[in-house]
Amino acid sequence: MMTLKQLVRPNIQRLTPYTCARNEYTGEARAWLDANENSRIDGLNRYPDPLQTEVKKRLGALRGISHDRIFLGVGSDECIDLCYRVFCRPGIDNVVAIEPTYGMYSVCAEINDAEYRPVRLNEDFSINEEALFSAVDSNTKVLWICSPNNPTGNAYPTDQLRRIASRFEGITVIDEAYVDFSEKGSMLPYIDGLTNMIVMQTFSKAWASAAMRLGIAYASKEIIDIFNNVKYPYNINILTQNEAIRVLDSHRKVADVAEELVEARKRLAGDLAKLDTVLKVYPSDANFLLVRVTDADRIYEKLKDEGVIVRNRSKVALCEGCLRITVGSEKENDLLLNKLKEHGN
Ligand SMILES: *Cc1c(COP(=O)(O)O)cnc(C)c1O
Repeated sequence: MMTLKQLVRPNIQRLTPYTCARNEYTGEARAWLDANENSRIDGLNRYPDPLQTEVKKRLGALRGISHDRIFLGVGSDECIDLCYRVFCRPGIDNVVAIEPTYGMYSVCAEINDAEYRPVRLNEDFSINEEALFSAVDSNTKVLWICSPNNPTGNAYPTDQLRRIASRFEGITVIDEAYVDFSEKGSMLPYIDGLTNMIVMQTFSKAWASAAMRLGIAYASKEIIDIFNNVKYPYNINILTQNEAIRVLDSHRKVADVAEELVEARKRLAGDLAKLDTVLKVYPSDANFLLVRVTDADRIYEKLKDEGVIVRNRSKVALCEGCLRITVGSEKENDLLLNKLKEHGN
């Protein structure tokens, strides 16, 4: 394993982070006169907790991890971007990722001027480990593995992910945006033994809170401390923090919500497989289905004309002829099935 000293950009190691007022003093006070807030009007006049400790304590209790090993970002997008800003020297370092996968890893690579090295999955969407490690060199700082993977829908066994994360010397990021819909399990239980692993999750999928923009990174305290030093001081506003606490405290457990969705996914997969237009429904560990159809472009357009919007993935490597269909409400799924029947050929 490379040490953080070898992995973190030198300018980030040297950084003297901004110390905001809410960092410098925490606790009770009778008069808050340190942050130039407007104390004459109540409401949103106070700066929020820069480290979102209340949210992290609840989340940590739920996931079985200490709050100081959790980072919260403005969506997973911020967590992804921070990996580049912290580890990748622009114009020098590179990252390796499976292909096809989530588009943000490559967009953020371009923005941060890091070389992006995609490694094609096998036809069955399994990982070609030898090809993956052939793409790695001494400047490879981050390895992106999305599991369950978007858009292919499959999750990788934790045994395999552990083997890959132990073998890769740099930072292995496991993006678990869809993990609650999968039976293959999370990598969080192995985070203590894999000090260079970052596990990402999000409030956008199983938590049904995409509008909140709250992404999660779990890692060693050392990595989390660096992320906290680099992020904008008050990245998560108080409305989001309060809503996150409300969602985490709410009675409907995320596991129950996910279970319902998985049942709906199984029904939809079965119904889709019966249609003439559907050539293949790929197995899914997520809340969407990758579906190979007879004529993806035409069917996509037809559905769109009917107001049923799916994702056309037919130009994506290994997904030729495929649509990515999110499992919706019963009503939405029925509408989709009816429209697919009407426009069958
Ligand atoms: C949807 C999704 C996310 C969530 O991103 P947010 O910015 O948290 O909404 C992260 N990773 C993958 C692979 C996704 O598909």
